[in-house]
Amino acid sequence: MDVKQRMQELAQARYGREPAQCGDGELYRVLLQLTQELAQARPAPQGERKLYYFSAEFLIGKLLSNNLLALGIYDEAKQALAQCGKSLAAIEDVEPEPSLGNGGLGRLAACFLDSIAALGLPGDGVGLNYHYGLFKQEFHMSHQFEQPNPWIEDDSWLIPTGTEFEVPFGFGPVKARLFDIAVPGANTGIANRLHLFDVEHPAPAPREGIDFDKTDLPAHLTSFLYPDDSDEAGRLLRVYQQYFMVSAGAQLILKELDERGCGPETLSDHVAVQINDTHPSMVIPELVRLLAARGLTMDQAVEQVSKTCAYTNHTILAEALEKWPLTFIEKVAPQLVPIIRELDARARAAHPDPKVAILQGEEGKEIVHMAHLDIHFGYSVNGVAALHTEILKGSELRHFYDIYPAKFNNKTNGVTLRRWLEVCNPQLAALLDQCVGPEWRADPTRLSRLMDYYNDSPVLEKLLDIKAANKRAASDLFARDQYGIRLDPDAVFDIQVKRLHEYKRQQMNALYVIHKYLEIKAGKTPQRPVTVIFGAKAAPAYVMAKHIIHLILCLRRLIENDPQVRPWLHVAMVENYNVTWAERLIPACDISEQISLASKEASGTGNMKFMANGAVTLGTLDGANVEIAELVGPDNIYTFGAGSNYVIELYDQKMKDGAKGYQSRVYYERPAVKPLVDFLISPALTSLGDEAALKALWTDLTTKDWFMALLDVEAYTAARDRAIADYGDRAAWARKMLVNTARSGYFSSDRTIAEYNRDIWRLG
Ligand SMILES: *Cc1c(COP(=O)(O)O)cnc(C)c1O
Repeated sequence: MDVKQRMQELAQARYGREPAQCGDGELYRVLLQLTQELAQARPAPQGERKLYYFSAEFLIGKLLSNNLLALGIYDEAKQALAQCGKSLAAIEDVEPEPSLGNGGLGRLAACFLDSIAALGLPGDGVGLNYHYGLFKQEFHMSHQFEQPNPWIEDDSWLIPTGTEFEVPFGFGPVKARLFDIAVPGANTGIANRLHLFDVEHPAPAPREGIDFDKTDLPAHLTSFLYPDDSDEAGRLLRVYQQYFMVSAGAQLILKELDERGCGPETLSDHVAVQINDTHPSMVIPELVRLLAARGLTMDQAVEQVSKTCAYTNHTILAEALEKWPLTFIEKVAPQLVPIIRELDARARAAHPDPKVAILQGEEGKEIVHMAHLDIHFGYSVNGVAALHTEILKGSELRHFYDIYPAKFNNKTNGVTLRRWLEVCNPQLAALLDQCVGPEWRADPTRLSRLMDYYNDSPVLEKLLDIKAANKRAASDLFARDQYGIRLDPDAVFDIQVKRLHEYKRQQMNALYVIHKYLEIKAGKTPQRPVTVIFGAKAAPAYVMAKHIIHLILCLRRLIENDPQVRPWLHVAMVENYNVTWAERLIPACDISEQISLASKEASGTGNMKFMANGAVTLGTLDGANVEIAELVGPDNIYTFGAGSNYVIELYDQKMKDGAKGYQSRVYYERPAVKPLVDFLISPALTSLGDEAALKALWTDLTTKDWFMALLDVEAYTAARDRAIADYGDRAAWARKMLVNTARSGYFSSDRTIAEYNRDIWRLG
């Protein structure tokens, strides 16, 4: 297709004007239509088996650039726009970011769809079409507020399919309407689909904030991702949403199986279902139910489903492993209850250990352990980084590993370098083309050839220049879109962007900021200015996480108002951190903060994006940081802190005897730590914010500190100061950058997906 000509035709047809006379919004819609036409003309890939990737989240980000690239017309479109005086970046600004995910888990699902299509494999995503997304974050008075985040416009990536299914809820049937988003594969002529189910009559957005009547169903089934579950109505709504997704998805699977002319007794020959975390776990009993309704015996149905479904575990945090009261399922989907009982009975008959039962009694109630359902009746259980899988096998899921050793396998996460390098860092991508040849784009392992330039001064210079340019660009966008707040592009950019959670330890990062602040106030100026950038949303009901945001925003105010400190230290927190901001900040990063408490971050994927873009990791030996450290070697990463075995041991001791194990008080009393923690309740800070919130945080850190920030804060401070000092040797730093990019090919999600296909899906 001649992109320029088609752009002209569409601009004329839609707006009666030449592209040069169109506004950015009009050109966005022209390009959207053009891209959709090309993607929809592509056939679906064929194979013996087809994958359905079920996920509550798909954090797909803006799609225009990504799809232009996948369709092979990125450069052509950019040139055509340039010829009429337009910029693709300005046009992409118009695109609303779909708000279909929360953090890493949802972004992983999006990277996976991209890679499945790029490898030409038959695999579609299945999820929900949330109208208002997670939420849009706003800061007022140094606090987070939540607003709806609507993203669906008249022209959008959603393709109405006309396909509908009836979901049989306890209160009556609800129609599920299917919308698709095309997923064109880079380097292939095919396109897969992201299937998003929606209700027939979605509710309008709440007028203010994100509170709504959670019993107003079905209208609110697809309003928000993860509605507040601090009350029972909220928890029930999550189960309604999950069943809506899996019932419609299971019906879609059987419809497509039927269209292929295959009987339900051949399900596992033709279908693989990947269950991304436990949210879609009810797909197992639902498929059993539907197969039985199509005439299979219970034995046959269970066997087929058990050879079809595979489960990915994403966390060992106990509170994140879903357990639902059976009464919830009785209410939402009563037809599943006898099936879950039957599955439980079968599992118990084979494995009498009550710890591995699906149904367990807790406080007189029967509770369904969703992960147990997945492990007994799925054929694969995978962790998402080498360390995480070992922890699953050795502690968290040990009893299951003893029963089913062959089911367990590791699939270290990856990210699509098309979005996270080619699109977000075109200058670095161009340099890589020159150094290692453009083949790295299809085969990221070729990035290792960059090592040939380890002592090549012009290339090292160029890496530094590109980083400096990216920092200036990020600073400009920050000033434009974040209330004029200016970053100092000559400072070290030290960035921690990810969901806010105590285990990720943004609070420890804040303690370092306090440490620097106090040093500067005492007359000890640092070697060079540092800009500490945060980005994080806190779950609306997660009080401690909101306190940590408050602390960061108070520190920002404190430092902005202090002329003695301001030249040396900046704190910035991006409002409404999302994929778009990730694409802006990651290429501009010098130091990548990956400081979770060892054993708690299953993998992380932010760490991989930063690494590919030449940031140097400052991190604990947690999740995929361990693999990053092995790949780059000790000179090219800063690791610190307690190891995972020690941390697991501390928790074990605590479980046996509350007076044993980690005692935050002991660390708080250390002379280097106490002043940092006590600063939280100093008048300098409390006068700027909410004293009660800061006090609550102080109390938590000094008496509980469940994620052990005080355990590691001294080692963290030392490692971080060392990194900032090393930054001054520009040539040596450039080499660290080079090694990180060169070794990042392993973390391409193309590699991850090839492994899933080889070991689990076998799509043929
Ligand atoms: C990659 C990504 C994440 C995951 O970051 P982690 O550091 O792995 O937690 C979260 N949010 C967005 C927008 C991302 O792009």
